[in-house]
Amino acid sequence: MARPFYVTTPIYYVNDAPHIGHAYTSVAADALARWRRLWGDDVVFLTGTDEHGLKVQRAAEAQGLGPQELVDRHSAHYREMGELLELSNTDFIRTTEARHRTAVQQFLQAVHDHGDIELGTYQGLYCVACEAYYTADELIEGERCPIHERPVEHVTEENYFFALSRYQDRLLEHYAQHPEAVQPQARLNEVLGFIRQGLRDFSMSRKSISWGIPLPWDPEHVTYVWFDALFNYCTGVGYGEDRARFDRYWPVDYHLVGKDILRFHAVYWPAMLMAAGEAPPRCVFAHGWLTVGGEKMSKTKLNAIAPAQLVEEFGADGYRYHFLRDQQFGPDGDFSYEAMVARYNADLANNFGNLANRVLTMAVAYGDGVAPGARAEGPLVAASRAALSGLEQGMDRLDFAGGFGAIWDLIHAANAFIEDRQPWALRKAGDAEAAAAVLGDCLEVLRIVAVLASPLIPGACGELWRRLGLPGRPEDERLPDGVEWGRMPAGVRLEKGAPLFPRIEA
Ligand SMILES: [Zn+2]
Repeated sequence: MARPFYVTTPIYYVNDAPHIGHAYTSVAADALARWRRLWGDDVVFLTGTDEHGLKVQRAAEAQGLGPQELVDRHSAHYREMGELLELSNTDFIRTTEARHRTAVQQFLQAVHDHGDIELGTYQGLYCVACEAYYTADELIEGERCPIHERPVEHVTEENYFFALSRYQDRLLEHYAQHPEAVQPQARLNEVLGFIRQGLRDFSMSRKSISWGIPLPWDPEHVTYVWFDALFNYCTGVGYGEDRARFDRYWPVDYHLVGKDILRFHAVYWPAMLMAAGEAPPRCVFAHGWLTVGGEKMSKTKLNAIAPAQLVEEFGADGYRYHFLRDQQFGPDGDFSYEAMVARYNADLANNFGNLANRVLTMAVAYGDGVAPGARAEGPLVAASRAALSGLEQGMDRLDFAGGFGAIWDLIHAANAFIEDRQPWALRKAGDAEAAAAVLGDCLEVLRIVAVLASPLIPGACGELWRRLGLPGRPEDERLPDGVEWGRMPAGVRLEKGAPLFPRIEA
């Protein structure tokens, strides 16, 4: 039976418009999901939208809409973003769905029965945009949100609290046993530091808001933020509906998150799960911020770039390639249009595009459109094996830039091989057999690249596969056999086609 593999993006807040920061996490999760499918895993890849809360309620009122109407409209933008970027998510969850309401209420009841939710009075400094309370020392000049840089509000109300303080020791014990559960390593240190400072119970309900899921034992309150938002990850694999399915996929393999929500995913969330007797996530991987001109993108700063603007120019493949190869998935990275054009032209139009173009052009011309087979052994065998192992090592650490870089080493090797052997000269000198041998090897490299790069640039790999005269799709191949040297059949019809990646003039 196929191994289950479960990966998530955060659910995106419907009030925001999708920008390249959201798309960054989604594309990374998609590459990982596609990579695991190549290994034959049974993959669940979940993304979706976070649709409750005060901000939505207020925005709907301001626009004269019902909140459901507002979230229906906005959620659609994130679905469209997914289609645009060719995400292969298996589900799209919305926190206003009935399945989520049922699941959250069941989970709340379990935590309440365990005695970890208690009534109290809250007085605090609250950022509406974050939907979170802050202590004065966490704020800029004691009054402004550190993320949104806008003033917080003084709020007093009767709330239910989750007894996070009781979980300090268990969380420390959990991370001592599973240091891999927060990555990269520096983020684990950050989480441990936060836990060791002492954990405070957090408010998890509101009476003043109607747009949310009512607490099952006190329906005057709706649950607030974390119990609603984080729990989408469990709803998505059948919690409250299908226990066998839930047990198959839970605990999740990877929650991919931005570093700004690490604390909630690596401290609040595992404690909440423990309180209901469920296992914590196997790994929360926090990546850095994607900045523009050195600043985090935001609606208020008007520096947010919509993915559609870039996809229009670079295509979905060019887009996906840039963000996974140019940015290290971990530290902050600054987006630059000039760097995007330069890398697209160098890596896609020149290296990969040229290799495909020259090999197919010569093979079609010399062999009457019919492929010579690959030799059983040859000078590119070692480079093709190195591409697989380099990619594997990279993907194990979610080092997309390094892992996919190994494929480009193979592409370089094949281009150098052509320069060295000069099949056109061999042909001119009357050695058609030697020319065909060189081209057969290069066609085999293209076949292997189409499989290995399919998690990164699925569109171009599918098109290359078709031009190589191969049946099905590269993503239907299974690793490692699918990239075993020598599988490129002789005698199939090749097609030269237009350039896979037309050059872009900046
Ligand atoms: Zn804020």
